[in-house]
Amino acid sequence: MYNDLPSARLYNTKGAPFGAFIQPYSIEQIHIISVFKMDNATLDHQLPPLPSYALRPATPLIPGIPDTWLSLALPIIAYWGVSMLFHFIDEWDLFPQYRLHTPAEVLKRNHVSRWDVFRDVVIQQVIQTIVGLGLAWFDPEQVVGKEEYDVAVWARRIRLAERAIPAFLGLVGVDAQGMAKNFGGAHAMLAGALSGGVYPELTQTVLYSGQATTAPAFAEWEILAAKAIYHAGIPALQFLFAICVVDTWQYFLHRAMHMNKYLYTTFHSRHHRLYVPYAYGALYNHPFEGFLLDTLGTGIAYLVSGMTVRQSMWFFTMSTIKTVDDHCGYAFPWDPLQHLTSNNAGYHDVHHQSWGVKTNFSQPFFTFWDTLLGTKWVGGDVSARYERARLLAQKKVDADAGPITASTPAENAASLTDAPYTNDASSATSTARTAPTVTEPRIPSGKASKQALGSRQQVLDSGERQGGGIAVLAEESVEEVKAQRKLKQSQPSPLRKRTTSSGLKGFADRVGESLHGKSSGVLGVESR
Ligand SMILES: [Zn+2]
Ligand SMILES: [Zn+2]
Repeated sequence: MYNDLPSARLYNTKGAPFGAFIQPYSIEQIHIISVFKMDNATLDHQLPPLPSYALRPATPLIPGIPDTWLSLALPIIAYWGVSMLFHFIDEWDLFPQYRLHTPAEVLKRNHVSRWDVFRDVVIQQVIQTIVGLGLAWFDPEQVVGKEEYDVAVWARRIRLAERAIPAFLGLVGVDAQGMAKNFGGAHAMLAGALSGGVYPELTQTVLYSGQATTAPAFAEWEILAAKAIYHAGIPALQFLFAICVVDTWQYFLHRAMHMNKYLYTTFHSRHHRLYVPYAYGALYNHPFEGFLLDTLGTGIAYLVSGMTVRQSMWFFTMSTIKTVDDHCGYAFPWDPLQHLTSNNAGYHDVHHQSWGVKTNFSQPFFTFWDTLLGTKWVGGDVSARYERARLLAQKKVDADAGPITASTPAENAASLTDAPYTNDASSATSTARTAPTVTEPRIPSGKASKQALGSRQQVLDSGERQGGGIAVLAEESVEEVKAQRKLKQSQPSPLRKRTTSSGLKGFADRVGESLHGKSSGVLGVESR
């Protein structure tokens, strides 16, 4: 790989060592000289020699478990670990104020049971592991031992780049050589860099063809900078590149799944049975889609970014955690993953709604494809839409529970106020069937209404079996008006009063209260 470098020929590329790496010395130390041997090689008198290296098999991070296995196991462990954390936050209702949806919505709006979700996720993870093990079979053996050599290669590149400094400064009228002469002494390193990477005092003795020969040495700062590039800069670029590959892969395939009716109804509509996402539903997909988007997407990103297996452990695990976080159902102010980019749980939640399904395709890291290609949700404030879904789900829960036995006058009033809702719900169904556009929620004109109409059509197309159909739209449509009316009220209604009743109703009321009037900004959706 580095044979293009002037002195790479000094080294046996098969890895047999014929020298020892010499650490750089400061000006004060240059008279203490190490010696190393360089048989069968010529010396470049301009550049410090590169150290030899010996490759050896990498020892596994956990003895007895190959790193490739660990890289496959860690994402699964992270998936269930993080999911269970969110699951218990959910079950114990630890942060109702940050919920995107009420428990009643989870119960009533999703078209798939938790058990089915669990089973399908496990199936996807089994497929993912088998594919990973298959690919690992062809992976070259992981070796180490070349790190110091690679650092020195970067130090050489820095030294070569320094040669351009005098000419570069000359362009802006600065006499670098003149400046270098004025430095020296305490600023010897600066003088060396300014004069184009010339450090006459930095030398070392090497054994070349059995004879001690003086060769240039690296400055300490050059080695430090090279280490920073090698151990931090390059891996950071590899991660960023891999992230862009995954985002691009997922965006276009995800978008295709929504644009093509066959792809949507056959594969992707399964994921959209979750109108109210929860953490471990993140990988609830058709097995083919899971393989194509998630397994293949991250696998290709790993390959093209040139990551090591150790790096891939971080990458696969972080991608998994991010996907889980995007489906967690909470807009946490203190969750760093939700603030790294504008692609977070609130952003993706819009994509899971019947009115936003044709928007916000970007997943899982950035939103630039949505922005560039105009598929970002532009319908503005979403609080009325969220509110109507909450009310509808709550009504269903209440209907299941039978007549509400109110224990306080406020609750009596609430149940009376709510009584007309029943009629509206049934009339909404018929209205939606006959004149769907009349009940279309209030949406700004132009692009936003196109997005919402497209989303509507997709839900209709998917039909009941895939968790869509007219019933979903009909149930939601009438609640829009009511929700808007409720949001406009300056005083909280009796229904919103904190009740002491236990069970799902009181629980959901508290949640509703905390979410009441939550703006699109809180939900991570940009207002127009
Ligand atoms: Zn989708
Ligand atoms: Zn999703």
